Amino acid sequence: MGAMAVERELEVSIDQDACTGDGLCVQYAPDVFEFDIDGLAYVKDTEGELLTTAGSQVRVPERLRLDIVNAAHDCPGECIYVRDLASKEPVAGPGADD
Ligand code: SF4
Repeated sequence: MGAMAVERELEVSIDQDACTGDGLCVQYAPDVFEFDIDGLAYVKDTEGELLTTAGSQVRVPERLRLDIVNAAHDCPGECIYVRDLASKEPVAGPGADD
């Protein structure tokens, strides 16, 4: 029980320069990932607003942790970066040791 209580908060961003536009992330977590009119995926904030500045970061909602981590693992462009919110250490996606 104690171990779960100290689960780290995560943040996620996309490197649009490497995004292939396949939409896998949008299927995994439509509450966080969405296409802009340029056909590339971007992240949404907690109000559901799409952040169309390239590389924008948002906090990962607790209930979507697994979906976001899975999206980062499977992203064909290898361009979804999941990091520890506090330390910025890579947790999934490029730079993470998995
Ligand atoms: S899964 Fe990766 S490459 Fe595919 S649309 Fe999402 S961010 Fe882009």
